[in-house]
Amino acid sequence: SMEDAAVTAGAADAVDTAGAGDLMVRAENIHKSFGRLEVLKGIDLEVRPGEVMCVIGPSGSGKSTFLRCINHLEKIDGGRLWVAGHLVGYREKNGKLYELRDREVSAQRREIGMVFQRFNLFPHMTTLENIMEAPVRVKREPKAQVRERALKLMDRVGLADKVDSYPAQLSGGQQQRVAIARALAMEPKLMLFDEPTSALDPELVGEVLEVMKQLALDGMTMVVVTHEIGFAREVGDSLVFMDGGVVVEKGPPREVLANPQHPRTQDFLSKVL
Ligand code: ADP
Ligand code: MG
Repeated sequence: SMEDAAVTAGAADAVDTAGAGDLMVRAENIHKSFGRLEVLKGIDLEVRPGEVMCVIGPSGSGKSTFLRCINHLEKIDGGRLWVAGHLVGYREKNGKLYELRDREVSAQRREIGMVFQRFNLFPHMTTLENIMEAPVRVKREPKAQVRERALKLMDRVGLADKVDSYPAQLSGGQQQRVAIARALAMEPKLMLFDEPTSALDPELVGEVLEVMKQLALDGMTMVVVTHEIGFAREVGDSLVFMDGGVVVEKGPPREVLANPQHPRTQDFLSKVL
């Protein structure tokens, strides 16, 4: 049969597949290497439902890799990761852990929305078609119902008048707002943002941050990798400073920014503030 082999003996010990309690994300000693390059060296982090966690840190510190692990785009080499109540990549049966099959991984991924630096909209589809694509094709929801939701989402990101436009007809800021709407169309429990404003002209950054702020106020759980310190201070519930594949410091944004405890955080902030 196709029955998977149980993960090595011992791995199942003390593992509770629902072990995240009420947390949206629980990362426990996450390790990730690319070949001989160790990129994540034991990340411990927790995100509560409704929390907006902002992540800052120098280029190459592992921020994107960490987000990609949460979203199943990278497989972790060590540690445990729970997202939205699931142990990522595994299921438990009779006290043993089994690796998920692709179909099951897809089901877990559907609970997570992600917005990248580059908008990645389908160029040959209108904005509305872009937003409707995944719910119709992946979730097989009725078109009329999805269309209804897509129109509401376009309104929510301030683009109700652009539903028939193609991506090339929109500014970068408008495209990124569509990308956010598209992620929301899957009704995710968690939204990940990887430097969503870094590719934008400066005058377009504010409109995207405003949409993200509204989303936060509406109660969405968010992990936001960003260089926008003002956003982190105003909207973030917590601020994480990563460097060299570890979490150097975490705390309330105002405290971390005003009174960084670690010399590496102080050094980084002195360069960006
Ligand atoms: P950040 O987002 O903080 O800038 P990344 O997570 O993108 O950092 O990258 C961390 C390190 O991992 C970098 O040295 C990068 O070159 C490396 N890296 C990222 N993805 C891969 C990959 N798929 N293969 C090899 N190395 C990678
Ligand atoms: Mg990155």
